[in-house]
Amino acid sequence: MNSLESLKIDLKGLKDEETSLEFTLDDTYLEALDGADVKKGSLHVSVSIRKATGFFEFNFHTDGEIVIPCDRCLDDMTLPVDTDNCLIVKLGSVYSEEDDVIVVPENEGILDMAWLIYEFVALVIPIRHVHAPGKCNPAMTQALEELSSDRSSDEESNQPIDPRWAKLKDLNISK
Ligand SMILES: [Zn+2]
Repeated sequence: MNSLESLKIDLKGLKDEETSLEFTLDDTYLEALDGADVKKGSLHVSVSIRKATGFFEFNFHTDGEIVIPCDRCLDDMTLPVDTDNCLIVKLGSVYSEEDDVIVVPENEGILDMAWLIYEFVALVIPIRHVHAPGKCNPAMTQALEELSSDRSSDEESNQPIDPRWAKLKDLNISK
């Protein structure tokens, strides 16, 4: 059974009023999700499913860490994950997802949690995520600093310049 298959829950097969499941998800899970931006991580997910009249209540607790590129230096950075989420799952005629209510086709009765868990994790990622101060890739930090100082000091630079450029400058001024 691959890691994505085990995240499919057969709702009609749930016999007990309460079911608790535990999953350990790693890079294999993230890589198997076609189109996921996050490719590396290590997550632990606890799911408790409560059977009620006409619906199932799913409570998720996900913790661990994911590895994503830093916005500033583009090196990998580790982001901690610790999130609780609740979903109401019902059986109906066609699949639908609205707010926290998911309708699963009754003839299949399968809830695929793979993307749902990924979405919980993706919500934890801040829009701008960078390494802690001083932890960025030093080479990239230096390159970025040089780039920004080049831009600001170009005009008032007193360095001797190539005579051909000096001529061009004169031409520009006399225009
Ligand atoms: Zn960084």
